[in-house]
This record gives sequence, structure tokens and C-alpha cells, in this order.
Amino acid sequence: MNKKTLKDCPFCGGDADIEKHDLYYEVFCTDCMARSEGCTDIEEVVCLWNSRENPPLGLSAVAQIYLEEIFIQSYEAQFMYPDDRNCGEEYTAMREIMGAYYTDEQVEALEIESRQ
Ligand SMILES: [Zn+2]
Repeated sequence: MNKKTLKDCPFCGGDADIEKHDLYYEVFCTDCMARSEGCTDIEEVVCLWNSRENPPLGLSAVAQIYLEEIFIQSYEAQFMYPDDRNCGEEYTAMREIMGAYYTDEQVEALEIESRQ
């Protein structure tokens, strides 16, 4: 496995590299903070990194992580506090913001992921 098999960073186009931890591997960008999930299998971690979709409209990796986190919180809050109207309104607002950066399919995938 060498660096040539890794695609450039989907966030900034920087070089990617593999980091070996005690129990798993991670691919990371040498220029920004982007990281893959950890995998015990080196082939799998490369595959994960290489199949990562580009974030729409050039959101930075950090901005994407925060946006997704806040969106998922607002999504989950609706179910935790079904009688609280503010939660519904917050989700609607967050859904609108997400719509500027993500496709409907990507937003739905995040919602499905948060339910698991
Ligand atoms: Zn990068």
C-alpha cells in the first residue's frame, strides 16, 4: 500500500497519508484536519477515504463537522421533546441551512445514520 493509491483530500485537494495506530488505521490529509474513520483493515480504510464525496460548495472539513453535528442534534431533539414547538422550528431552520450545502439524499442519509 502506498500513497499513490490514496486520492487527494476531498476538502482541500491536499495529499493524503495513512496513519497506523495500535489497533486501526486512519487516512488523514496532510494539509487540513480531514480524517477518515478508523478501520482495522488497511484496504478498507483506503476504500473509505477514496469513496468520500466532496463536500458541496467548498465547506471546510471543520465547518462540515460542526454543521452536521448541530443538524443531527436538532433532528434528534424533535423526537426527544415532541411537545416543544421550538424544537420543530429549530429543525426546520437547520434543514433549510443544510439545503444550501447538501443534497436531499445526503441530508436523509445523515438522518438515517443518526437513528441507528
Ligand atoms: Zn485536506
